[in-house]
Amino acid sequence: MADRKTPKLAVWKFSSCDGCQLTLLDCEDELLALTEEVRISYFLEATRKVEKGPYDVSLVEGSITTPHDIKAIREVRKSSRVLVTIGACATAGGIQALRNFKKALFANRIDAQAPIAAPRQ
Ligand code: SF4
Repeated sequence: MADRKTPKLAVWKFSSCDGCQLTLLDCEDELLALTEEVRISYFLEATRKVEKGPYDVSLVEGSITTPHDIKAIREVRKSSRVLVTIGACATAGGIQALRNFKKALFANRIDAQAPIAAPRQ
């Protein structure tokens, strides 16, 4: 069992499908072995038990999409010695980032369309 000097690990969620966290949870045996090396101090997908920071390592899932998220990720960064993004959402914006291109995508589609005239009956 990990003691007080054991590095503290936190796992954070922002806008995402939870798939990355579920993948961590799927590593059942490895995750149990990891608890011998690190103390899982914050991982709401796995447990409601929460230990306050600072944390040695934070894993971040999901993208930053709201002003609240901006404030929260800055707090996570401040309370973490090392921060690691996991998955496409946290690393490159993921599905949520597509909304940044919405205008361009729709503009291209409209330009490519020919008017449709329905035959009268
Ligand atoms: S990268 Fe994003 S969409 Fe992909 S599994 Fe992780 S949370 Fe889900």
